Amino acid sequence: MPKKAIVIGGSIAGLLTARVLSDFFEDVVLIEKDKYVEGGKIRNGTPQAHHIHVLLAKGREIFQDFFPELEKDLIKKGANKIDFLNDIRYRLPSGWAPRFNSGIVTFACTRTLLENTIRHQIQKIPKIKIEQGEQITSFVLEKPNKISLKTKDGKEIHGDLIVDCTGRNTKSPSWLEDIGFPKPKETKINSFVRYSTRRYIPSQKDRKWKMLVILNKPISNPRLGGIYPIEGGKWLVGLYSIGNEYPPTDDDGFLEFTKHLESMELYDALKDAVPDSKIHGYQVQGSRKYHYEEMPRWPENFIVLGDAVAIFNPYYGQGITSAALGAETLGDMLKNDEVKNDFTRKFQKRLSMTISLPWTLGTSEDLRWPTTVGKRPNMITRMVQNHAQKVLLISPKSMLAAKSFQQMMHMIRSPAIIFHPLILLHMIVNNVKK
Ligand SMILES: Cc1cc2nc3c(=O)[nH]c(=O)nc-3n(C[C@H](O)[C@H](O)[C@H](O)COP(=O)(O)OP(=O)(O)OC[C@H]3O[C@@H](n4cnc5c(N)ncnc54)[C@H](O)[C@@H]3O)c2cc1C
Repeated sequence: MPKKAIVIGGSIAGLLTARVLSDFFEDVVLIEKDKYVEGGKIRNGTPQAHHIHVLLAKGREIFQDFFPELEKDLIKKGANKIDFLNDIRYRLPSGWAPRFNSGIVTFACTRTLLENTIRHQIQKIPKIKIEQGEQITSFVLEKPNKISLKTKDGKEIHGDLIVDCTGRNTKSPSWLEDIGFPKPKETKINSFVRYSTRRYIPSQKDRKWKMLVILNKPISNPRLGGIYPIEGGKWLVGLYSIGNEYPPTDDDGFLEFTKHLESMELYDALKDAVPDSKIHGYQVQGSRKYHYEEMPRWPENFIVLGDAVAIFNPYYGQGITSAALGAETLGDMLKNDEVKNDFTRKFQKRLSMTISLPWTLGTSEDLRWPTTVGKRPNMITRMVQNHAQKVLLISPKSMLAAKSFQQMMHMIRSPAIIFHPLILLHMIVNNVKK
């Protein structure tokens, strides 16, 4: 058994990675620059936690595998179990999605509750030691192809495996360059997404849904909005825009924006709900992927995972699930004893393949908007994307299309599912052209 693994960054990717490594290493040390806070408080290292975090059904599956007790814990603390078609009032560009028991299930709560509950599971694993309030500030070249870490107060930390899970502000590209490694190539696609989010206390109406989503309508209406149930019976209300729009962060503007969505249902629900927080804005940096898999030289004891490798447009709710897929990939490779020969390089290659699905699903959607900046997809991707759009449009009239589309987006079925002959038949019968 290898001796010591170090994980930098104790957010969701770091916690999942530590969980996986604890099956294979004698000691796992998780280094987090923040001091953790309990209750509903949001720490400095995770400002995104003010906003809605949807966990895809694939992410839930992996979580259940890693932490069999997690869901029970979350539900006890007020998280809501959600069937993505049965429990959601879902406005698609062509009408309302059908409501039925789809089996596409996940749970809804704040990101803070999710992260804290995962951490409490991790704290039960004796092999994992959490170092809070410890910041890594550079890499040190230990041997020609091996790195160690330097902390803010000058301490040097060695590990048989070091994993960067420091998220979207990762410094690995420049820290590697500082010790003589080449800079990784990067791909960027920016659709200029902006968020405004506010917590509400709902009025005591008898509603027939747990969650409300009103999608935008490419390319005539770039506004999207939704109500997401969180613990304590409250709502997180998110308003989003793509391109040149800005969802407002003032009281009147926030409500006014909801009148310009594809349906007035969000406005109607908010009219008599009570605001329970200030409005938080967020300007998304776009999607970005570092191509570590193409590095000509790579340290033999270092890998990168989670947002530190790829950030996705958060619109599509893929970040946490992609981090979970990365941790699962790492576990699979360690189980198959692939640690020897060139393990770290092989891992980055495998990870790049694993996250290519969420990357393509999200970025090809973004590239439908003329305001998006980035390389346009090839002809095959465009054809698949056009077909996916038709499947979405037929969804109000076809339960199979609605379910298949959601299964693909939740990554529990491959995109091949949307080419089912019955869906194609529905399209012909309903004469779907666009
Ligand atoms: C507005 C917004 C909305 C989102 N919505 C969704 C959604 O609906 N669904 C979804 O799945 N994903 C969503 N995401 C993405 C999601 O937040 C991340 O994918 C997820 O949190 C996993 O990130 P991570 O653990 O890789 O990094 P992060 O969460 O960014 O954490 C990085 C951690 O590393 C620590 N750290 C950083 N530098 C150092 C250092 N030098 N030394 C020690 N520690 C360090 C930080 O303090 C932090 O704890 C959203 C993101 C944003 C910005």
